[in-house]
Amino acid sequence: MKWKEQLLHLNSYQPGKSIDEVKSLYGLDSVVKLASNENPFGCSKNARQAMSLSNSEFPLYPDGYATDIRTALAKHLAVTEEQLVFGNGSDELIQMISRALLSSGRNTVMAESTFPQYRHNAVIEDAEIREIPLRNGEHDLDRMLEAIDHNTSIVWICNPNNPTGHYIAENELRSFLERVPTDTLVVLDEAYYEYVVADDYSKSTHLLSTFSNIIILRTFSKIYGLASLRLGYGISSAEIIRTLEPVRAPFNVNLIAQSVGIAALSDQSFISECREKNRNGLDQFYRFCNENRLDYYPSQANFILINFRTDGNEVFQYLLERGYIVRSGRALGFPTSVRVTVGSQAQNEGVIKEMGEYITSIRKVSEGVKQ
Ligand SMILES: *Cc1c(COP(=O)(O)O)cnc(C)c1O
Repeated sequence: MKWKEQLLHLNSYQPGKSIDEVKSLYGLDSVVKLASNENPFGCSKNARQAMSLSNSEFPLYPDGYATDIRTALAKHLAVTEEQLVFGNGSDELIQMISRALLSSGRNTVMAESTFPQYRHNAVIEDAEIREIPLRNGEHDLDRMLEAIDHNTSIVWICNPNNPTGHYIAENELRSFLERVPTDTLVVLDEAYYEYVVADDYSKSTHLLSTFSNIIILRTFSKIYGLASLRLGYGISSAEIIRTLEPVRAPFNVNLIAQSVGIAALSDQSFISECREKNRNGLDQFYRFCNENRLDYYPSQANFILINFRTDGNEVFQYLLERGYIVRSGRALGFPTSVRVTVGSQAQNEGVIKEMGEYITSIRKVSEGVKQ
């Protein structure tokens, strides 16, 4: 086969173990997944009620233009309908943008420890990847600017950043955008937008009137609690959306996602409740880390990266065997950390108790060595 050479060195996405697998592997009755930043409180009950399809709808293709949700979302965001593009999850939008702008001879700039799909898609499109290490868990915007040249097609900014939870203040983001060449697209991935409480976080849709070279990505997978349905969207200028549209597969967003998405959008009180519960959950983790002198990054998202100063895989495995699926920091660029999704209060208490016992067990071992 005449495969693209780069595919031969690329691994496919490795999803973590499922709840059922972990149950049967370790003989556990209950397993909690705090690995993929899903919403522990589910989704709005409006959304659950919108789930039914009539018989006549099953055989028909969905509305390829996603008209109804487009109208609802444009209104919600106070943008025009022409400024929106929908994806089968924002993962698909990342793929579309990469396909539209990257090729060999072009380059793309991103943080070194950030959402892995930017890199993955750039490899497939054979573009040069310029990864700039984070500074203190933050995008190093000055060094990212220095890395941009006339062949840079895309700059990826994950805000708040996955896996650190760090956010970029609006004035910093503006001064960065002012210095990016206008023919380089800046992707602002805001998958955790609705979780942010910092006052100086950008109202990024306001940036659209000043900057003609940005696209904002958001999703229904995180706070909206609809990861299973795959629904994400991009917000940009009508011109950028028009140029991107031919890359989109026909009927890429299914009918259930479209109708449930509208219902989910209509229940903003569910969103504020989840945001608030998430802050309380983060406080539980902050308290635990402070009491145990563990370093962590303050988070504006629904996860926290905790540095145990041991092997992240070992912490991951310890928690897995006790019924908590988290993410080892090893594959995320933080080999001595784990990333934990903020769960319900009881789930947080549970995982915190196990993490406490893990720390006690390793401290005993190291004291044993000393004697
Ligand atoms: C989860 C996540 C996504 C993917 O979201 P989907 O809409 O489910 O594809 C995109 N970007 C970041 C930073 C994420 O954490």
